[in-house]
Amino acid sequence: MLNSEGSSSRNFLPDQYKRDAALPINHNYLTQQFADFQNIFEKLKNVVLNNDFTLGSSVDDLEERFATLHNAKFGIGVGSGTDAIFLTLKAMGIGPGDEVITAPFTFFATVGAIATTGAKPVFVDVEIDGFNIDVNKIESAVTSRTKAIVPIHWAGRICEVEKLYEIAKKHNLSIVEDACHAVAATRNGSFAGQFADAACFSLHPLKNLNVWGDGGIVITNSETLNRKLRLMRNHGLVSRDECEEFAFNSRLDTIQAVIADHLFDKLETITDTRIRNANFLDKRFSKISEIKLHTRHGYLKEVFHLYSFLCEDRDNLLDFLKGNGIDAKIHYPIPLHLQKAAAFLNHKPGDFPNAEMISRKVLSLPVHEFIDEEHVEFMARKVKEFYVGR
Ligand SMILES: *Cc1c(COP(=O)(O)O)cnc(C)c1O
Repeated sequence: MLNSEGSSSRNFLPDQYKRDAALPINHNYLTQQFADFQNIFEKLKNVVLNNDFTLGSSVDDLEERFATLHNAKFGIGVGSGTDAIFLTLKAMGIGPGDEVITAPFTFFATVGAIATTGAKPVFVDVEIDGFNIDVNKIESAVTSRTKAIVPIHWAGRICEVEKLYEIAKKHNLSIVEDACHAVAATRNGSFAGQFADAACFSLHPLKNLNVWGDGGIVITNSETLNRKLRLMRNHGLVSRDECEEFAFNSRLDTIQAVIADHLFDKLETITDTRIRNANFLDKRFSKISEIKLHTRHGYLKEVFHLYSFLCEDRDNLLDFLKGNGIDAKIHYPIPLHLQKAAAFLNHKPGDFPNAEMISRKVLSLPVHEFIDEEHVEFMARKVKEFYVGR
């Protein structure tokens, strides 16, 4: 726990975390991030004093702020990133008998959101360079039942949305982007969602823009989808006494909207620091032949929700780094098509070789806003030491 002296609000980084790079370098930084919790409590006071517990102006303001940042007409706050995807698919009428194309290298929620509509998730393998869906393989997976594509912008690197858009147009498919990693990311200057029917974001504590629990936001330029999602997150109510269709309760919590708004002021710093740290590691790792980085492109603004790369002897490197206090992690060791939950799809090892290879070789290092130059320097040094010492 932080003592009160640790809660300096300006730099919000307690000194003991700054001094020694050999101190644990963690993925989790929430204690530091919310060291200024007293300021947030002050903001929450208004919610409590006004009894403004469901929806209300704090949610409206955040929705507008979020949509404006991403150059979208509408933002709709919902209960989680998972619900953002699920409700959007439901709002499009997708359900049993339909197929939805997505990638097998992602977090469970992408596929969970598709499967729980009753639609069948259809996997298309990812590219080794970037870990995003291989758009060139999508058309061969399209059938007469395909209704939508749910691409993931892995780690905050926007996938080939222009090509995706062409394919979707040709086959009359919707695009619902899983942009949970991609807050503030751009491709050719465009944010997530510009080539899609909707883009879905998560405010989970470990996402780039985060809250004190669960939350999600859908952005869209479609008036129809905006209206429908507002109904669906709130019991299908058009007024206090009138229900247009039976639906869900998945509102963005008002208290969480206040937290997100508070962190919004820091989003630029959060994003820039992640990029700076990633650039530093890129420079150092480009000299290590056992590590394979993604090709970086000037037209991409990657926001590095994760800093992940392929590496030789991954499991031993992971142990070595952990032994040195570096919280390296595997996102993720088992691709979705090989999960027990996907047994009904009857996949087997070898079906999506790129996703499987990535799962065996991928590693992530923390690059969040509390990682400073000493930390990245230490991580780079330890990785090099591991390979030199083998
Ligand atoms: C976090 C995440 C989600 C789900 O978001 P929640 O807010 O945790 O429900 C969906 N897709 C991806 C790729 C994610 O990383």
